[in-house]
Amino acid sequence: MILDGKALAERIKTALTEETAEFTAESGVTPCLATVLVGEDPASAVYVRSKRRSCAKIGFESRHHHLPAETSQADLVQLVEDLNSDASVHGILVQLPLPSQMDSDAVIDAIALHKDVDGFHPRSVGHLALKKEGFVSCTPAGIMRLLEESGIDPSGKRAVVVGRSAIVGLPAALLLTHANATVTVCHSRTAREDLQAAVEGADIVVAAVGRPHFLPGAWIKPGAVVIDVGINRIPDPDRPRGRLVGDVEFETAQERAGWITPVPGGVGPMTIAMLMSNTLLAAKRAVR
Ligand code: NDP
Repeated sequence: MILDGKALAERIKTALTEETAEFTAESGVTPCLATVLVGEDPASAVYVRSKRRSCAKIGFESRHHHLPAETSQADLVQLVEDLNSDASVHGILVQLPLPSQMDSDAVIDAIALHKDVDGFHPRSVGHLALKKEGFVSCTPAGIMRLLEESGIDPSGKRAVVVGRSAIVGLPAALLLTHANATVTVCHSRTAREDLQAAVEGADIVVAAVGRPHFLPGAWIKPGAVVIDVGINRIPDPDRPRGRLVGDVEFETAQERAGWITPVPGGVGPMTIAMLMSNTLLAAKRAVR
């Protein structure tokens, strides 16, 4: 069965629209997401546009700051600090990657914890690890919501997370651990045969590597749940801009999997829905 992230994300956004209308009517506050884009990376511009479109649809305000690529780190940090102290802004999103002269960690560190709706701040990740209140990084939160809404309980299951990045793999492994799965994390130093054995034994496979068709479909255990986070553009003779594929060999994996996310239309839309959900939560926490 297909885990249809696109349809679920639409349902979540519809529910958020109603919840936002109620919240704004009661509190007089309109949730506001500040988006910051530095430079002209076309993919980043597309992501920011799509996040702002979701804000408008749900009834949030979005305030966009587009800075030139040559902006200094000090100026960017200053903007973040200004947004931190602006009470009408509830969430701050600095679109990554930043231009190479900037230290992304230092910029993310500057975001006030209660406005860190992306959940990238090291303290947000720490809170997640310790199950304390905070913002959960949107892609891993989207993965868990997809499982939950599909009636898939990770408790007691064997899960493998391929990839250990701070924004996807690591928090996904933490969330699955909190959900009582037995979790194996694989990465670039994992021996290929160990990776294969871990995937073949897994009831839940989360692939977050960033390499097209990296996991052979033949490795998937019959009936397993496959969550493909990867977004990779590959050449396609029929499409001038190529096409998007995941990290898993979809055609063969879908023959074996019980559930599988498509790429596109799986985890990607859920990421934006969770960003919207975090922004409303930030606004609610600001007025409580
Ligand atoms: P990173 O490049 O930060 O991390 C990739 C991870 O894959 C690293 O942990 C790396 O290991 C691991 N890896 C690399 N090569 C291998 C290998 N040969 N075997 C096993 N593991 C390997 O990527 P992200 O986590 O940011 O993103 C992963 C993918 O997910 C990308 O395609 C990205 O576009 C996509 N993505 C999708 C989102 C969505 O909304 N759907 C959101 C965010 C990302 P090591 O740590 O050892 O280097």
